[in-house]
Amino acid sequence: MRLLLLAPPGAGKGTQGERLAAWSGARHIAAGDLLRAEARTGGGLGREIAAYQARGDLVPDQIVLDVLTPAVVEAAAEGGYILDGFPRTLPQATAAAELAARLGVTLDAAVYLHAPDDVLTQRLLDRASQGGRSDDVADVIQHRLRVYAQTTGPLVPYYTERGILVAVDADQPPDSVTADVRSRLSGLPFLTS
Ligand code: AMP
Repeated sequence: MRLLLLAPPGAGKGTQGERLAAWSGARHIAAGDLLRAEARTGGGLGREIAAYQARGDLVPDQIVLDVLTPAVVEAAAEGGYILDGFPRTLPQATAAAELAARLGVTLDAAVYLHAPDDVLTQRLLDRASQGGRSDDVADVIQHRLRVYAQTTGPLVPYYTERGILVAVDADQPPDSVTADVRSRLSGLPFLTS
């Protein structure tokens, strides 16, 4: 199975990505986690990534592609991937499609998890109060939601036009979201054939 998760911050793509990976046997590739791991290495590139993440800005496309491509190539050879948080821009989507074509694979579905901004904001503030990430502070949260709307939002029509968008209401308890995603995916031809 080869999927991507398209979702604003706080929609639960990390949780759902892990569950989908466990369910399908495909590898969970979380862009934010891989970039945070690179940032922790502390070199020049790491410091650059850390600065973008701290501000809630997107890391430049070329850096993202350099960090993520090896993981995607490896997973494609080993039973598939659940891309969580990648692609997040139109140029990244184009690059991901080119990479898939080069590897001789296609994307089965783009799972779009959506929820209202006030729900997303509250979830991220709750995560912050439970010792969450350093980018879970009120002004950075608002900035991340704006960046999502402006830059990642256009991927919804992009994947709709390609006929692979699966939209799921993420304003529900995590188990209900998981059940909805699984039932929607189970109905797709690539899983039932
Ligand atoms: P996430 O863990 O998915 O919430 O991502 C946290 C941060 O990592 C984002 O706010 C960005 O700074 C960076 N990031 C994650 N994925 C991408 C991506 N595909 N393109 C650019 N920046 C990204």
